[in-house]
Amino acid sequence: MARIALVTGGTRGIGAAISKALKETGHTVIANYAGNDEKAKAFSDETGIHVEKFDVSDHAVCAARLPEIEAAIGPIDVVVNNAGITRDTTFHRMSWEQWSAVIDTDLSSLFSVTRPLINGMRDRGFGRVINISSINGQKGQMGQVNYSAAKAGVIGFTKALAQENARKGITVNAVCPGYIDTDMVAAVPEKVLESIIAAIPVGRLGQAGEIGKLCAYLASEDAAFITGATMTINGGQYIT
Ligand code: NDP
Repeated sequence: MARIALVTGGTRGIGAAISKALKETGHTVIANYAGNDEKAKAFSDETGIHVEKFDVSDHAVCAARLPEIEAAIGPIDVVVNNAGITRDTTFHRMSWEQWSAVIDTDLSSLFSVTRPLINGMRDRGFGRVINISSINGQKGQMGQVNYSAAKAGVIGFTKALAQENARKGITVNAVCPGYIDTDMVAAVPEKVLESIIAAIPVGRLGQAGEIGKLCAYLASEDAAFITGATMTINGGQYIT
């Protein structure tokens, strides 16, 4: 069955790969983005995927836009909460703005995006909520107290929401990528990148497409028995 899927931050990096994988598995995909119009247009032209610009860290905007999008396109059965940012620095130097920006975008957005969609999923008896966390939410990472806290919060959100909705045909899962070959990682100096790769048992970075395929599987009917799970996909770098 062709279902409608929303991927936040779905026009670049890992989100773009998730959008493409969901399209390949028959979904009608809506890829959200924040501000990079040029990149979003190029992505939409290349893939034919519908793009929607709104700020997932703004609660009022999400509350207004999501019902409008559903009214225009149809009910959203699959949501991938992927949009995320970093504002790295050590905690003793961290500003309230650096803390808040990451908590608002990487954690509070899960409330603002999922809350307007969950009752429709419950009424229809089907839903897939997939939340992109991080290896650094599992193990903690120095220089990322804000990001580690937000991404650990994503896992708690996932486990509680999964329990509340399991009888309604809705699964809720977290995906924790390790280091993925995106623009962000490509910008790391070569020597630092070498040491990162040396710490990954499989000996390479992950590919965004590998995260996309995992999300497409979690979104499928076949994954109905997987809920509340924390899926690590990190080349063995952190084994839970
Ligand atoms: P990118 O920086 O490449 O892309 C981020 C995407 O999120 C863009 O589409 C961006 O839109 C969008 N976005 C950012 N802020 C907002 C906002 N407030 N509202 C709406 N959209 C927003 O990120 P990655 O692909 O690297 O990461 C994707 C997710 O995976 C994140 O949650 C990240 O924390 C997580 N992750 C990444 C890892 C990695 O190695 N890259 C490892 C582990 C987890 P725009 O283009 O308009 O700016």
